[in-house]
Amino acid sequence: MTPSMLAVIPVRDGLVPAGGDETIAECGGRAILIGSQTAAAEVCTGIVEVHLVEAGSFEPGRWARGLLEVLGREIADTTVLVVPGSPDGRDLGPRLAACLDRPLLAGAISITAERVVVVRAGGAEVHTHLVHEPVVATLQPGVRGLEQHLEPTIAAERATGSHRLDAGDAGEARDRVRRDARVLEVLEPDLATIDLSEAPRIIGGGAGLDGPERFETLVEISEHLGAALGATRVITDRGWIDHAKQIGTTGVTVDPDLYISFGVSGAVQHTAGLGSPDYIISVNTDPHCPMMQLSDLAIVSDANAVVDHLHRLLNLGEHDG
Ligand SMILES: Cc1cc2nc3c(=O)[nH]c(=O)nc-3n(C[C@H](O)[C@H](O)[C@H](O)COP(=O)(O)OP(=O)(O)OC[C@H]3O[C@@H](n4cnc5c(N)ncnc54)[C@H](O)[C@@H]3O)c2cc1C
Repeated sequence: MTPSMLAVIPVRDGLVPAGGDETIAECGGRAILIGSQTAAAEVCTGIVEVHLVEAGSFEPGRWARGLLEVLGREIADTTVLVVPGSPDGRDLGPRLAACLDRPLLAGAISITAERVVVVRAGGAEVHTHLVHEPVVATLQPGVRGLEQHLEPTIAAERATGSHRLDAGDAGEARDRVRRDARVLEVLEPDLATIDLSEAPRIIGGGAGLDGPERFETLVEISEHLGAALGATRVITDRGWIDHAKQIGTTGVTVDPDLYISFGVSGAVQHTAGLGSPDYIISVNTDPHCPMMQLSDLAIVSDANAVVDHLHRLLNLGEHDG
């Protein structure tokens, strides 16, 4: 088998998930888009070869098995199948690996047909796996970026093949489908639990905030403003907020439209995971720190006082003063 790579992108209603474009770029423009309205999906990277598989509603087990039926040859001939590490990708990747009886290398930060680099222990360890046998890997969104910004392309314009997977397909696997993960209902995103990588507005807290209760106040403000809450590593190390909320090179890579920081210095390990927000607002006592320099609006003030003041202005909770 010649070493090769192929991106497998779960698509819902024509939407490519966070990290989808990077995954296609990582695979040199070879991709399978599977899901609903795949022909309408917009991809912002150079497509060399794309197969569209219309598969209806999200059922990752059925999709994985169905992919083997409609594109078994392409898949079998590919050494490294790469799935974006988006929420849907993290459901699809393991099922694809199980169906193909291949090892899964989850949370990769760099992938070639010869080696897959993954981070472990909250980013403290980096492991390089040489590819000696076919594998499935998930690529963390945001870590690779796109080398150049290309015009969005509608997938259908470049399609090399189109396939359809009906709900009853997957042959003898039909019974197993009943036990598969199925979408019962799609709820509005819960900002307290939304995957930070997909949040359009993020409020970030840093060591300038003086205690865990200040973060509880910040949670209420974030919910009210329709933003997700993130933090720096100093804060997650203190256990004031879960590690899943850590933004940065050893946490989550995000790309919001708006980022509001309170008491964050803007160390490179934090800002490297910030993506390119359209607007950044920061509150810090040090006007010269990197976070303030990056900001569109830099407010020189005590972040704790601003948090309390904002809480009052928004009429949230009880206040003494
Ligand atoms: C291998 C490695 C990986 C790392 N990965 C990450 C990562 O993924 N994410 C991450 O965030 N960090 C990461 N770090 C840590 C990073 O280097 C910084 O230490 C961290 O981002 C700093 O967090 P901070 O801004 O909250 O704290 P500090 O750097 O201590 O900054 C606190 C800021 O608050 C301001 N301040 C103080 N008092 C007030 C006040 N009353 N009001 C307003 N502002 C105030 C200060 O002026 C300062 O700018 C990593 C470090 C290493 C070595």
